[in-house]
Amino acid sequence: MRTWIGLDIGGTTVKAGRVNEAGEIVARAEKAAPEELGALVSVCRSLVDGVWDDSVAGVGIGCRGIIDVEKVRVVVSNGRLRCLDGFSLAELAPSGARVAADNDARAAAAGEMVWGAAKGMRDAVMLTIGTGVGGAIIADGRMVRGSAWAAGHLGHLNLDPNGPMCVCGARGCVENYVSARAIEGEAWAAVHRGVNTILSTRGTDCATVSACAGEGDECAAGIVNRMIERLGGFIGGLIFAFDPEIVIVGGSVSLAGDRLFVPLQKDVTARTEPFFRRKVPVVRPGVGDATGIIAYSHRTMSLKDGSRLGSFLF
Ligand SMILES: [Zn+2]
Repeated sequence: MRTWIGLDIGGTTVKAGRVNEAGEIVARAEKAAPEELGALVSVCRSLVDGVWDDSVAGVGIGCRGIIDVEKVRVVVSNGRLRCLDGFSLAELAPSGARVAADNDARAAAAGEMVWGAAKGMRDAVMLTIGTGVGGAIIADGRMVRGSAWAAGHLGHLNLDPNGPMCVCGARGCVENYVSARAIEGEAWAAVHRGVNTILSTRGTDCATVSACAGEGDECAAGIVNRMIERLGGFIGGLIFAFDPEIVIVGGSVSLAGDRLFVPLQKDVTARTEPFFRRKVPVVRPGVGDATGIIAYSHRTMSLKDGSRLGSFLF
């Protein structure tokens, strides 16, 4: 049975997995992502080598930033992956191996469109909300990549023109208000100004804030509710712009489950139903585990391989 390797290069972690034709992950490994190019490349290569075997038909890479799909090259990557600017991603695989690459959120959206929550649909919006906010748009059955591969960076839509400086160089982008980092920043600030909250003993990472909100902590609930309101407004705007059949929200923030999706759906529906006269579903991803895009990268590669769906996404 042929297998493919998926490599997910994120801002904090690099993950590799080998996946068979049935879509099962048969080997996986992950390591922290170094910020220096040489170290990052050797981490990626060692992960690929670690899951490699003779059945591998190709390597699919999902990477943060602007990815030139034709040249399999990083055009620009901000933040911790800045060292990858201009880097040829094919170098991460053994020489001679077939390699495909795309922006990580688009790789995730491709997987959702073929195997997941957007299966059979022609218009969908995907958000990946973790440290930052990634996005992908599928319009009229095609992935929107833009004139220079940069389309879909939805986390840099503006919420406040005078807001905090963003990694992209602009001010007040969505990802400064709606992301794991934003939640953790608010929690940290609350603890350090002496607010009476269990966060001061439990910690301020995103999952803890979500758990404490579920336990009724007023401060944590306030942070989560503000985040849901902003996210609802943001998604409502995306629905007006793209009229999707579905909005998929993945990434570490989506691990909050119903605590996030029930109030979020209510908020989005209230904002959009009067105009659209229908409820646009806001759902979690249907494929892969929410912690990585191993399967998505693999599945993107299997599209590139041509055996299943040809050039639908490439
Ligand atoms: Zn920005």
